[in-house]
Amino acid sequence: MMSASATPGGLAGSRSGEEAYTVPTTDEPMVPTASPRPRVLVIEDEPHIRELVCLHLGLEQYACVEAADGTSGLHLARSEPFDLVVLDLMLPGLDGVTVCRAIRRESLNADVPILMLTARQEEADKVLGLESGADDYLTKPFGVRELVARVRALLRRGTRARARGIDDTVVVTYGHISVDPARRKVRVGERDVELTAHEFQLLHVLLSSPGIVFTREALLGRVWKDTTFVTERSVDTLVKRLRKKIEANPAEPSIILTVWGSGYKAADV
Ligand code: CA
Repeated sequence: MMSASATPGGLAGSRSGEEAYTVPTTDEPMVPTASPRPRVLVIEDEPHIRELVCLHLGLEQYACVEAADGTSGLHLARSEPFDLVVLDLMLPGLDGVTVCRAIRRESLNADVPILMLTARQEEADKVLGLESGADDYLTKPFGVRELVARVRALLRRGTRARARGIDDTVVVTYGHISVDPARRKVRVGERDVELTAHEFQLLHVLLSSPGIVFTREALLGRVWKDTTFVTERSVDTLVKRLRKKIEANPAEPSIILTVWGSGYKAADV
């Protein structure tokens, strides 16, 4: 079995994974696509460990995005959605615990499973004891099989946890509105409402968690996912269009509310 050992590592520049993503540039009606490979963010400053982790997760059909320090790793976690984060504890700049806590505070990846890598068992105990928000840990040197097994287990747990939040098979009922993700149908009272894929996604996210405030950044990640050519203003434009279709009076919305200085939320029901 191959294993990664902890050695003092140099600071390498971050680079993104080799995975190519299709970038939808228009707001077209949703078409069914094959489920994408789970995306894993690997934040590790030692190049050979980072490469080893990404090589083996790649062989398991995970799509890795690499970061060589805490700052660039946190930047990625704040701007793109991930299914899992592998996070080294000892990092130049921001350390792993700081990065972990910051990720947990961000709504975009706040519920992402985090696997912490540590050099020693005592560190691992401290990490979990500190309640940094890590879900599991591996001490270096670790076996590749153990790494893959932990990642699989965390992803299963993560999928279940997310299923409790937003489930793509359950019809969301919100007052007089129903949102059916499987059929991609929205009914407002007695009428069917035609929505674009992005409008539908935005409505589904907001109505699935009434009262929860989503920042524009978080909504960008959830509605546009991997698209990079959108700005926070795109969220405002989309909200405006959606309100016209579902609100009784779009000028005085009662369903999708603006939270000044923060973002948007569905009104409590
Ligand atoms: Ca390190």
